[in-house]
Amino acid sequence: MKCLCKKKSNFKKKITDIRIGKYNFSIYKCTKCGIGKTYPILTKKEIESFHDVGQYRDEEGKRFNNLIEYLVNVFKEKRAKRIMSFKSVGKILDIGAGRGLLLSILKKKGWNVVASEVNRKTADVIRNRFKLPVLEGDIDKFKIKKNSFDVINMSHVLEHLKDPISVIKKCRFILKKEGFIFIAIPNNDSLQSKFGKKHWYHLSLPYHLYHLTEKNLLDLLKLNGFEIKYIKHFDGEMNIFGWTQTILNCLGIKRDFLFDILTYRSFRSFKNLRKPKNFFNFFSNLFFTFISLILILPISFLFSILEAIIQKGGCIEVCAQLKQ
Ligand SMILES: [Zn+2]
Repeated sequence: MKCLCKKKSNFKKKITDIRIGKYNFSIYKCTKCGIGKTYPILTKKEIESFHDVGQYRDEEGKRFNNLIEYLVNVFKEKRAKRIMSFKSVGKILDIGAGRGLLLSILKKKGWNVVASEVNRKTADVIRNRFKLPVLEGDIDKFKIKKNSFDVINMSHVLEHLKDPISVIKKCRFILKKEGFIFIAIPNNDSLQSKFGKKHWYHLSLPYHLYHLTEKNLLDLLKLNGFEIKYIKHFDGEMNIFGWTQTILNCLGIKRDFLFDILTYRSFRSFKNLRKPKNFFNFFSNLFFTFISLILILPISFLFSILEAIIQKGGCIEVCAQLKQ
């Protein structure tokens, strides 16, 4: 196996027996840099077939129920504010733009925005609903002029990529001198990852191919000419839920069950519930999840603050400026 650090290294099996669907996953760690790698890597077809209920997003691109959709919007507004504290207006590329929520906020504030998205259906949503320009496909395949953007945002994208380095290099090429990059990733050195181990929610298998620590990300950026501006360890959108789902997973409730309910995944598989055994399992998972939540939610909130204080946040956001 090749590592992102390109050093001659061995991979050691770190976590094994992560059972998802019919697949058994392991995470190998590079002995030189500590980057984790998922094994096996599934093909797109396999990923689509292995899940009970299809896709990452539904047809309209909506991922959650309305209350959560509202909260997601609040967090996007906050991210837009953070970006604007470094650059008040300019041209931005959002790689892995999802539904284009961040870009539609920035567009209203006068930004020139471009989205990049690999998922065809999601790209259609950005185009049709938000009327934003989309580069559909892998960003490293597009011909983009040098010095095109003032800011690049990449939230929870890097860990999904087959070749994260080529994408960072691409960013360096298309970003203007002194331009900013904002990257958010799950932190494989966080308190919640150490607590949850194979039950950690943000392992997100089989979607995450790489598992990086804060140091891994900073090294990658510095090696490519970036200077670190800030590292944020509190992420209200990702970390509280990360703790909640991780603790529920540790308690033995079906892996990521709460997430599945919130994204309607479990409900969309109602047809599976006709079998009495499935019906019983579903409702016992539902019952135990909601009983446990009364205790787990406040704990998750406290732990998210604690891990941010000791700089071991479950998901982190790094802002870096291109210097060379
Ligand atoms: Zn390595």
